[in-house]
Amino acid sequence: MTVRLDVVSIFPDYLAPLDLSLIGTARRKGLIDLQVHDLRDFTHDRHRTVDDTPYGGGAGMVMRPEPWGEALDHVLAQGPADAPPHLIVPGPGGVPFTQAMARDLAQQPWLAFACGRYEGIDERVYDEAREHMPVSVVSLGDYVLNGGEVAVLAMVEAIARLIPGVIGNALSLVEESHEDGLLEYPVYTKPPVWRAREVPEVLLSGHHAAIARWRRDERLRRTAGRRPDMLATLDEQDLDARDRQV
Ligand code: SAM
Repeated sequence: MTVRLDVVSIFPDYLAPLDLSLIGTARRKGLIDLQVHDLRDFTHDRHRTVDDTPYGGGAGMVMRPEPWGEALDHVLAQGPADAPPHLIVPGPGGVPFTQAMARDLAQQPWLAFACGRYEGIDERVYDEAREHMPVSVVSLGDYVLNGGEVAVLAMVEAIARLIPGVIGNALSLVEESHEDGLLEYPVYTKPPVWRAREVPEVLLSGHHAAIARWRRDERLRRTAGRRPDMLATLDEQDLDARDRQV
């Protein structure tokens, strides 16, 4: 199955990295059909204007609704009216983007992304879009970017690697940070000693149960140290007697 992704932006070149690495390969293999649309193609004035001053006053500019309306109509027209895309609008005021959300979105056949700039998009665009498709405003984190493009790059990368076939070894996705409420354990490769620093002995032992226990201990320690908020939400039933000692 091909997953369709449409991105609307005033800086289509910003999305060029999506031609590289695993996502570029997935596109060439036909696993992902990614189309980037220039919002300015949906303007009709000489200056290709997409913004204007805010009603009510205040600093900055707001994206005008007309080009957005036409751009989203154009995206919608690419597929069946009874199966529209899920529209993701990046914004610092949105719900936080998480691994669980990436997993959910990776199962959808068609996603569209609307990259805002300036002070954001005229609110009527959201109201209008909701009449035609599901709309989610999604935040990358509690900080403010200049535009939605960087957020879309991050979200598309997190979503695309969960689409079946994009990552060669699906097992590598299972034990990652944020998959089960714990951060990942530290990882090592060759050589066994580097600048007098040794790889933990247990990893060289070949003792699978001991390695699994060491990794679990490290995940718990790391999560407690860096993300106590995550540890606090772990289900008590998922902890064994040894976990509680770590
Ligand atoms: N005035 C807006 C506010 O305070 O909510 C911020 C606008 S920001 C300068 C311009 C655009 O960057 C937003 O429309 C959004 O597309 C994007 N953006 C900024 N911060 C973001 C974040 N944390 N997550 C996702 N998108 C973000």
